[in-house]
Amino acid sequence: RPGTAYRGRFAPSPTGLLHAGSLVAALASWLDARAHGGAWLVRIEDVDRPRCVAGADAAILEQLRACGLTPDEPVWWQSRRDAAYAHALRRLVDAGWAYPCACTRQDIEAAWLARGVPRERHSARPYPGTCRPEHGGLRGRAPRAWRLHVGRVIADRGLPVPLTWRDRRLGPQAQDVEAAVGDFVLKRADGLWAYQLAVVVDDAAQGITDVVRGEDLADNTPRQIVLQQALGVPTPRYLHTPLVRDARGEKLSKQNGAQALDLRDPLAALAAAAAVLGLPGPAAPTAPRSLQGWIHAWRERSLQFGP
Ligand code: GLU
Repeated sequence: RPGTAYRGRFAPSPTGLLHAGSLVAALASWLDARAHGGAWLVRIEDVDRPRCVAGADAAILEQLRACGLTPDEPVWWQSRRDAAYAHALRRLVDAGWAYPCACTRQDIEAAWLARGVPRERHSARPYPGTCRPEHGGLRGRAPRAWRLHVGRVIADRGLPVPLTWRDRRLGPQAQDVEAAVGDFVLKRADGLWAYQLAVVVDDAAQGITDVVRGEDLADNTPRQIVLQQALGVPTPRYLHTPLVRDARGEKLSKQNGAQALDLRDPLAALAAAAAVLGLPGPAAPTAPRSLQGWIHAWRERSLQFGP
């Protein structure tokens, strides 16, 4: 696409080392950037500090380097971006689109019980809206978290319900964000920034045009589009990559004990990731030359993955 600046990113959370599943997202985002002649950035998403593992950030960067995936610009750390997130939250509050919430988990459950929703259906329910300004706000209680007033953003920005978007691999998507997730958290009760706010602020600040990440994150996209609309920043294109499953058919993840990549054989790790992406086997006995082959294969296939 001549004349179109492409900027992509890989945004690992340093809660552990990269495994076979996370390498698929890393490789796909790198290949897509290379195939478009664009820039590939790495951002360490260390906002959820209690879940971060000391040294995992450096180790992940080393794993990527061993695989021949090196960022084109200096790495960003979300833990250094407090001021930008605070500024974004302030703008949302000033616009009437974010409000403080005093509810504990128990308060939220009590609100649903009071409305006759049985306990087993609570986890599938969005926030009941108790602290919305039009319901009286905090009513003297101490604020804990900050939430986005999804309905107001949708109404004020004239967004369609359901919100629709197109994923380059999954095709047309739709979600009624208010009914499905409701007023989601921007700043948590423990004072930490929520992933949704941090990712939207940083994708915009880094001028990201294309988000390529694992399919497990696909259903976060409509929340991020609502936030982009609220903050007046562009919506990138999205491509969600296939997940790697273990022998029991479960998604590989650090939580269920996925093994860290074996860096003694980066080519084998890359070949496995390439296979998940539907790419051919390695074109050469070394990682760098095989990566070149996969860029060509990706480019040829880019019609399939649009635009
Ligand atoms: N930090 C997220 C993760 O490691 C990825 C977020 C994103 O790519 O938007 O799962």
